[in-house]
Formats: sequence, C-alpha cells, structure tokens
Amino acid sequence: MDEDDWGGISDGDILAIDLEEAYELSATTAASSTQTARKRHHSESVEKDDAKPLIKSLKTDDNSLDDKPLPPIYSLRGGYLWVSDFSKQMWCEQQLEYSLSVPVDVTIPEPKWVTKGSELHLARELEVQDYVKVTVTSSEDIFAVKVINLLIALKSILTMSAAVHREVPIFGVVNGVFILGKIDEIRLDRESFSLDIVDFKTRKTQKAPGRAQKITQSTQIMLYKRLFDDLVRGLVPRHSLTVTLQLDLDKALGESVTENIHSSHAVLHCHDKKMPLTLSLLLDEVKEAAESLPFINQLFIDYIWQEDNQSFLLEEVKYDAIWLETQMTRCLAYWKGERQCRGVDIEDAWKCHSCDYQESCQWIVQKTKELQLAREKI
Ligand code: SF4
Repeated sequence: MDEDDWGGISDGDILAIDLEEAYELSATTAASSTQTARKRHHSESVEKDDAKPLIKSLKTDDNSLDDKPLPPIYSLRGGYLWVSDFSKQMWCEQQLEYSLSVPVDVTIPEPKWVTKGSELHLARELEVQDYVKVTVTSSEDIFAVKVINLLIALKSILTMSAAVHREVPIFGVVNGVFILGKIDEIRLDRESFSLDIVDFKTRKTQKAPGRAQKITQSTQIMLYKRLFDDLVRGLVPRHSLTVTLQLDLDKALGESVTENIHSSHAVLHCHDKKMPLTLSLLLDEVKEAAESLPFINQLFIDYIWQEDNQSFLLEEVKYDAIWLETQMTRCLAYWKGERQCRGVDIEDAWKCHSCDYQESCQWIVQKTKELQLAREKI
C-alpha cells in the first residue's frame, strides 16, 4: 500500500519531553511536504478550550466533604500520568512536585537543551513523515488523533511498508493507572520481523551520561516497551479511557477527523462510510493490528551531540521486568497518596546544585534539621 495514501494526523505532543502535554492544548503546526514522507495527523481545536475538559472535569472533584488532600495524581495531574513523569520522578520526586505546582501565571524559561532536544525530535520526525492539519471539536477527536497516529504506525509495521516509525503515541495501564507517552522511534528489521525501540537523547558533550541520568532514561524506555507489549497482548485500556479520561467511545467523531480517516484508506480496512466513526471502532483496529505484531525485542538510547546533531553513541538498555515493576510500585505509591513526597538521598545531594527550587526546598530544610539533631545526639 502506498504510504502517502494513509494520510496522517499528528497532534501537539510532537515536541517531546514537557511538550507531551501539548496535545491537550492542541497546538498547530504545518510541515513542508516531501513526496516520500508519511503523513501524521495534527489536531487543531476550533475553540482552544475544547481540548481542556479532559483535565478540567477531573480536577474539579469536590473534596470538601473530608479534609483529606487529594492524591497527587488528581491534585497535580488529571488522574492519569505521562511516561516522562516517571523519568523525572526518578531524578527527584520533590523537584517534579515543585515543577507541577508552579502557578500557571509563573513561567519558568525552558532550558536551552530542552529547546534543542525538541527541535531535534521534530527534525527527525519530519525525515519520515509529514503533518496533516485536522480540526478537532471534542476530547474524543483529540484522543482519536493520537489513536490514528498509533494505528498508522502499527499498520505500516504489519505491511512492512516502512522500517522507521517516529513519535509513535502509546498508552496503557500500569498497576491500575492510565499512562500516556510517545515513543521516539520504533525500528523494524524487515528480515527477522523484529522491533526495537530507540530513544534519542541530546548531549552538550560527546560523553555518556552518568549513572543517575541513565536510570531515568532506562525507566522511560522500559516503560515504553511495557506499554507496547501490553497492546500486543491485546490489552487496550477502554475502561480507563471511559472512566479516567471520561471519553465517550461511541460518540461520533468530528467531521474533519472522519474525513481524514476516510481519505487515508489504511486506518480502517473495512468501514461502511454511512456509519459514524467512533473511538471504539479505532480501538478495535488497534487491538487487531497490535495482536499481530511481535513484542519489542531490544531497547537502545541514541546519544546525539547538540553541536552537529549527529549520533555519537548507541547504548543498549536491557529490559528488566522485575526492576521496572519495583520502580513503578514505588513511584505510584506517591501518586496514589500512599506516601509522602521525597527529595534526593544524601548521596545524590549534588543534584540540588542545579535545581531551580534549591532555595526554597522543604526537603533540604527537613534533612538539614535531621542531620543537626543527629549530630547533637553524638
Ligand atoms: S533542591 Fe534537591 S531535593 Fe530539593 S527539589 Fe531540588 S533536587 Fe530535589
């Protein structure tokens, strides 16, 4: 099948890292077209606020009946998490909590390395696919754009029409919590029909990162594999989409999204055009396509030097299901409100020197007091 026939949709989370959340704000971009590039759908909201009810409706939970604070997953997030939340949490949970608690009218400038990283991700994506602008009119439309981009990647792997798939949306449930993310690259080996995940990391110097950074990166890429493999197992999280994101899976998708799906024959292989298109139908297609695919074989981190945008080191991460489960259980205990937020341990106090919240960090205050008390007892 001709790749260009697939059409494409992409949404605003293309720029990675912190910009993952941008899909809720449905930013717009139009990319230049090339004849060989695949297309991705990109959502544009008719009214910007249309995209927000996903969060709004969940954050307005009334907790006035008891004094118990809402767990962070509700007070800081909309009842669901992003893969990048876990990698940041593995660096410093307290830092992540501060960053999510910053009032909306306070802007913390984006570090230069984040901007560089975002530009690189966009450039890499545009090497293999284009953008198609889609107008979204509901939360269901916004999530449908994500599902369509995933579906395009899955079907293109199945037909082996392309070996490299970038910025692939992924979602699933881990320990009862709905998680969203975006995989930098899924690489298909056409001879063995095996799949690898590659995560791009930009570096200021041509040196591998230290142990602490590698742990955050390993968490992220292992979680991508876990979510992808769960789809291959047929675990499509319909219940979470209905309950957590409050999406109506049977609601007819908007005109623009529907038109784009119909014009890209590969998204749905047989559909009566007189019948309304729904998220439920798209999820059926995801399940069917994913179940025909193999599990992810290998995981790689591709380190790219900022100066020339060239890769200087490709490192394999060995998947360790038990290690990942342990980390997820520990991280989720915080999100579910089962334990207090923690800052870094004393041996990682060097992280505080470059932290934006160093001067007002309560964790440091508490640890300093504990240290003084311990000294006084000696
Ligand atoms: S100052 Fe240290 S403990 Fe506090 S948030 Fe920053 S990195 Fe974490």
